[in-house]
Amino acid sequence: MAKHIHEFTEIDAMRHSTAHLLAAALNELYPGTQFGVGPVIENGFYYDVKTPKTLSAEDFEMIENKMRELAGRKLPFTRREMPIDEAIEFFAGRGQTYKVELLRDLKTRGTTNLKEEELQDFDPEKPLVASVYETGEFVDLCRGPHVTDTGKIGAFKLNKIAGAYWRGNSENDQLTRVYGLAFATQTELDEFLRWQEEAEKRDHRKLGKEMGLFVFSDLVGPGLPLWTPKGTMLRETLNDFVWSLRKAYDYQRVTIPHITKKDLYETSGHWAKYAEDLFKIKTREDHLFAMKPMNCPHHTQIYASEQRSYRDLPIRYAETTMVYRDEQSGELSGLSRVLSITQDDAHVFCRVSQIGQEAEIVWNIIQTFYNAFGFTLVPRLSRRDSAAPEKYLGAAEDWDKAEQALRDILSEKKVEWTDGPGEAAFYGPKIDFMAKDSLGRSWQVATIQLDFNQPKSFGLTCVNEQSEKEQIVMIHCAIMGSFERFISIAIEHFAGAFPIWLAPVQVRLLPVSDAFADAAMLFVRRLRAAGIRAEMDADAGTIGAKVRKSETEKIPLSIVFGQKEVDGGALQIRVRGVKEPLILSADEFIEYAVKVSSERSA
Ligand SMILES: [Zn+2]
Ligand SMILES: [Zn+2]
Repeated sequence: MAKHIHEFTEIDAMRHSTAHLLAAALNELYPGTQFGVGPVIENGFYYDVKTPKTLSAEDFEMIENKMRELAGRKLPFTRREMPIDEAIEFFAGRGQTYKVELLRDLKTRGTTNLKEEELQDFDPEKPLVASVYETGEFVDLCRGPHVTDTGKIGAFKLNKIAGAYWRGNSENDQLTRVYGLAFATQTELDEFLRWQEEAEKRDHRKLGKEMGLFVFSDLVGPGLPLWTPKGTMLRETLNDFVWSLRKAYDYQRVTIPHITKKDLYETSGHWAKYAEDLFKIKTREDHLFAMKPMNCPHHTQIYASEQRSYRDLPIRYAETTMVYRDEQSGELSGLSRVLSITQDDAHVFCRVSQIGQEAEIVWNIIQTFYNAFGFTLVPRLSRRDSAAPEKYLGAAEDWDKAEQALRDILSEKKVEWTDGPGEAAFYGPKIDFMAKDSLGRSWQVATIQLDFNQPKSFGLTCVNEQSEKEQIVMIHCAIMGSFERFISIAIEHFAGAFPIWLAPVQVRLLPVSDAFADAAMLFVRRLRAAGIRAEMDADAGTIGAKVRKSETEKIPLSIVFGQKEVDGGALQIRVRGVKEPLILSADEFIEYAVKVSSERSA
């Protein structure tokens, strides 16, 4: 749901006016309907109502028709001001108990908002007026703004119905929330509906299941995906790719346990700050341990195990490993929100003077990696809010140097980037990368995060040229961040049709019948020996069923295998998404498959 702190734009006013139009229609169709609130949300609006008859999606058409009829009458939105007591009486007279409750709040607290922070300017002595808006017969308590009349409302469509407690409190009445979409034109609405349909088809929860990548078990629990052999193959392919890029820049692999004494997080400050997000473990000796929610504190202890010289730096540790965060079960969803998160994590320990060089290495890795998926990246420089220097940790001159180093890379790379004043973490500036997917959605993906805080908490130093201990800086630089989230984005980006280099199964042999299974398996072995991820569909089903299954699972290359193929005839290769089959000899095909799978292109 959209936040309401943003400025009310023209489209917002139109969407909100459509909420009034919905309420006016319900008021005519179902006399006695009581109205809650009707705010603007992303792409539309909703209205919380209590109707005498239970509403369902089947009523949408009739309600929309009524809305259209009222829109056609070009009813003006007329604003009127009433002293608050008169307004209370007015809405009470119409049986609008929820509006009366809002008005009473307005009278006693100066706001209908339940949050305390809005109370500051309230002067109980000042006589209060309430603004109401009339649209034909329907009168609503509202601050506005609206369009001038219902004829100015664009294209709309009711799209969802759900239960909602009055003011979000489960002890209050349950109301019906009717959702609608609203756009300036019918074309925009149609475009959005097409886009939404496409997004639903690509939903990674649906596709991930069809493709057999991961499963959930009620016994293991929600938010804890179990990766099948295929899903694990996909993860390994991604991991190998990231590691091949890091290895070229002298990263070293390290390995840490998944739990720690609480002391580690007390020193880092995480215990105090993120205690709620930690999975805690009590040992048999009654000591408190925690599952790691991040890897950096552990990695610092490998660095801190020796006194480092400036000559040793930079030191670059990489590790792909799971972290665990205790989230509310209601917030878990597919791979987007999980309790067990696999990170392709890395930490660079370096001097402030080396930030530029190290950040550029991470940048290059990020760019190569995301290019292979066809994602367009837009970086953002997340820097200090210069008006509030006290919010940030570390010396101002180190911040200046660090921000300058990041700025230099941004201008060197000659890419479009956005400026994010005030977006830095309190412990350091960063570059955040936004990736645009094939549906035009933006996702925050990789970051290059500088950190002055953990080196300070853990006393990480190097001995410099003057033989003095100098505090170093850490760079957090996961490339995918979370495998789970990245894979969910990649599935939706490709609609499950992974490029050959990434597909967990690259080639599938479809024997026409059992009689050809052995020969097909021999060919599978030849392909595997050449480094191709190949398998055979040994099911008893018809060849038509096997072809369809191959299509559903988005296998890039499928080969029907029968007598002709056994006799050494040319192979007919079905290439995913291509109508005409590819005709190649067995040897030519192996060469072709090796070549296309080694080119990491989207
Ligand atoms: Zn309004
Ligand atoms: Zn980290």
